[in-house]
Amino acid sequence: MLKVADIHTYYDDSYILQGIDLEVNVGEIVCLLGRNGAGKSTTLKSIMGYNHPRKGTIRFLDQDISKQPVFKNVRMGLGYVPEDRRIFSELSVQENFEVSFTAATEIQWTIDDLFNTFPLLDKFRHRKGGELSGGEQQMVAIARALACQPKILLLDEPCEGLAPVIVEQLDGIIRRLKDHFPILLAEQNAHFALEVSDRGYVIDKGLIRFSGTRQQLQQNEEIKKRYLSV
Ligand code: ADP
Ligand code: MG
Repeated sequence: MLKVADIHTYYDDSYILQGIDLEVNVGEIVCLLGRNGAGKSTTLKSIMGYNHPRKGTIRFLDQDISKQPVFKNVRMGLGYVPEDRRIFSELSVQENFEVSFTAATEIQWTIDDLFNTFPLLDKFRHRKGGELSGGEQQMVAIARALACQPKILLLDEPCEGLAPVIVEQLDGIIRRLKDHFPILLAEQNAHFALEVSDRGYVIDKGLIRFSGTRQQLQQNEEIKKRYLSV
């Protein structure tokens, strides 16, 4: 469904992604694991069109989207929850949802569906985004991505800075979302990511160093020691 082939991405003169290959198929949760600074966010930003690769291709739903602008990628069904969440702090939860409904022709997720998926947010409907806890803001950020009616979801470190009890709730939410679309999950927290993922890739210094099933990753102590903070 999503196929990234040998992409090379820069920030000005800094050569960051040095030939990344990865793919996500229907029905899968795939994680992209790596330490801080490894290139996880840059990979997701390249896919989304925020920082196009200078070389290599990104294919989504059998189309080459390597140079496609963000708004077209979103319209095609690439859902994205950035690391910094970027919710509107001055808007209420419901307003955050409302402004996120794009020009999507097929509406699969209505406002009611969003509140049903995140029942915790229902009682905060009219509360401003900026007044929510970190975990609640993360849920708003994910719900907003759903409002764009995605066919795949790219999640950038959803657990960062959240309490274990919230991480557990997110775990349940991510598993349920898998029934609707595949997910690419960028994570530093290998323990959490491997709990929910079917497969994963390990990235370090802009290169994929290892890829395998959940079991292969969980059992590979050497990879975990060398490239992950476990
Ligand atoms: P991760 O998400 O795995 O922590 P990033 O993709 O954010 O890693 O960063 C990969 C590398 O790119 C790091 O060395 C980081 O310093 C650099 N980098 C990230 N964003 C920028 C930017 N906007 N300008 C220049 N360098 C950047
Ligand atoms: Mg990052």
